[in-house]
Amino acid sequence: MRHYAERIFVMYAGRVVESAPVDDLLDHPQHPYTQALLAAIPDAANATRLREVPAGEPPSLLHPPASCRFHPRCPHFMAGLCDVEDPPDFEPRRDHRSACWLHR
Ligand code: SF4
Repeated sequence: MRHYAERIFVMYAGRVVESAPVDDLLDHPQHPYTQALLAAIPDAANATRLREVPAGEPPSLLHPPASCRFHPRCPHFMAGLCDVEDPPDFEPRRDHRSACWLHR
């Protein structure tokens, strides 16, 4: 994607959770789901080690989790916030948006 796109939009369960210019997103991923996606990319450096992946399965799109849709799988889950209020788009870096309460 680095060679084809100007901007990347990352979606989880039907919602855009992060967007940024391609280099900034790949070099500085902000949302826990994006970080998990990038950590799972196989390459020569990680071919022989197990990679951390979020527990669980992608949710049903007919009945997605309330509030942050990634909250049942997120390693940074904050009870009483992530499962109660839908995070808005924050801008933790210039022109780089992430829908995650970690950036409030
Ligand atoms: S809002 Fe909470 S559950 Fe959702 S990605 Fe951010 S820290 Fe994880």
